[in-house]
Amino acid sequence: MIPYGRQHLSKKDIESVVEVLRSDFLTQGDSVPAFEQKLSERVGAKHAVAVNSATSALIIACQSLGLGEGDWLWTSPNSFVASANCGLHCGAQIDFIDIDAQDYNLSIESLRQKLEVAEAKNQLPKVVVAVHFAGQPCALQELADLGRRYGFRIIEDASHAVGARYQDQMIGSCEYSDIVVFSFHPVKIITTGEGGMALTNDPALAKQLRLLRSHGITRCPDQMTGSMEGPWFYEQQELGFNFRMTDILAALGCSQLNQLDRFLEKRISLATRYEAALRQLPLKVPFINPGCQSAWHLYVIRLQLKEIRLSRRQVFERLTAAGIGVNVHYIPIVSHPYFRRLGFDLADYPQTASYYQEAITLPLHPGLTELEQDFIIKELEEALQAE
Ligand SMILES: *Cc1c(COP(=O)(O)O)cnc(C)c1O
Repeated sequence: MIPYGRQHLSKKDIESVVEVLRSDFLTQGDSVPAFEQKLSERVGAKHAVAVNSATSALIIACQSLGLGEGDWLWTSPNSFVASANCGLHCGAQIDFIDIDAQDYNLSIESLRQKLEVAEAKNQLPKVVVAVHFAGQPCALQELADLGRRYGFRIIEDASHAVGARYQDQMIGSCEYSDIVVFSFHPVKIITTGEGGMALTNDPALAKQLRLLRSHGITRCPDQMTGSMEGPWFYEQQELGFNFRMTDILAALGCSQLNQLDRFLEKRISLATRYEAALRQLPLKVPFINPGCQSAWHLYVIRLQLKEIRLSRRQVFERLTAAGIGVNVHYIPIVSHPYFRRLGFDLADYPQTASYYQEAITLPLHPGLTELEQDFIIKELEEALQAE
């Protein structure tokens, strides 16, 4: 089976992990700060806090922004559930903004309308989680303008977007947001097995993120609220977690980051080949916002169901039967039983609903060969011609 996404590990990646395994510190050593510094320099952020997953990063990002009971968090329904769950873990209420019909990110127009209604009801969100779906950046400038006008904070869920660019900034620069979150799950752009990072330019937020990552405990002499009783001393100042990344994984992260340019080049080249081959077929290829460079985490096509007289499921099953690991991103968050119990209904998000009927994710990862890709294209063409 050709997987839709897969990690790409070099000999150097493996050696860098083994080196940590032979060292004195498997965790809380030098590799985590080294990875944090390397990544923050790469994307142009002042501070980076490495954690054990993007899910953890989203949770402490929300907590650092003071999200809690009585607050609202809004996000896109076309995402992984973690983009919404972080709000619920903080005791906040959540709501969703329908997606844009072209780029499948949250729609700025829907957001604007929803904010007007929420303002009248005095239910404005405290935090908006903007997901850069498939690696394509959201309209960050417009979002930041609305954030200033309505007083909400912005977390970028950039789990798909390591290496993406928005105008002249790397995603991760935090130019338009309070905190940016990356994921290093093996299907994402670079991997640490499991892992994530929260980046910010605000030193107070960085301090809070670090505290929450490690039980709410600090050992920094200059951060004590009371006097240091001795060299053994530490204080728990907040209720935090153990969300730390190990040094084993941080070393892998550093080594993977060295290959980011190559990974992106390969993803862009495969996406360009897909576009050229698929443009003429009865489907919609991804739309690219001008001024943006997608990280191409996912290659999502939308079938023109009226033209092909087949269901998405039929096309999906044909491709799977041919050994092609297609996928669907995403089952709308609001459709899961847990969220339906909270009162959400996919019918309230018409663009998300119609997108979900038609979307298929084709394999795209740095190890995918052009031969494999040609096979995928041929099988897709044949599937679409079937009656
Ligand atoms: C993968 C993903 C996450 C969760 O990342 P983990 O590192 O697996 O916790 C969150 N949001 C989005 C959009 C993702 O794709």
